Amino acid sequence: MKLFRYADAEIPTVHGPFRLLVYRDADAKEGDSPNAEEHMAIVRGDVAGVSNVLCRVHSECWTSEVLGSLKCDCGRQLEAAMKLIEEDGSGAIVYQQQEGRGIGIINKIRAYALQDQGADAIEANEQLGFAADMRSYEQCAEILLDLGLRAVRVMSDNPAKIRAVRHAGLHVIERVPLAVEPHDFFANYLKTKKEKMGHLVSVA
Ligand SMILES: [Zn+2]
Repeated sequence: MKLFRYADAEIPTVHGPFRLLVYRDADAKEGDSPNAEEHMAIVRGDVAGVSNVLCRVHSECWTSEVLGSLKCDCGRQLEAAMKLIEEDGSGAIVYQQQEGRGIGIINKIRAYALQDQGADAIEANEQLGFAADMRSYEQCAEILLDLGLRAVRVMSDNPAKIRAVRHAGLHVIERVPLAVEPHDFFANYLKTKKEKMGHLVSVA
């Protein structure tokens, strides 16, 4: 599978200007699933060939990013990553469209309904017939390489993402935790991530 860079433009954001690059599998037709998944790279400054660049693989979370949902901390993590890049002057975030840890928006909302009946995030997925986490990060790591990143500081609490970045051949100099303000609504979710999914959760 070879990812192709289809579009590239600069956008102004509340965290300053970022370049937005859109990738898709060159062989996939629009609308095909799942190979038609579009990945976005959100880039600030010169990152190609530069050592020690901040990077993140961020998984789409429409509910928290668009609605400000407090069921999880994803939207705040994206915000924190953009802010860190703004402060640092350069960096790259690969945004993957794997909503709900890869089960899609319909099943994610079904899982929320099950959580309302007492299931935790993993049990809800299992009741729907899915693994706790259906995401894969190979294409995201491929994009980081395409951007010219080689030696990076990874902003993540998720060991699987750090492993994927390493596995793609990048040198991980450091893991940078993204501390978000705690909130009662997603305290249980963070607890599940830490205790059952092996995440290195850090809370501000
Ligand atoms: Zn989320």
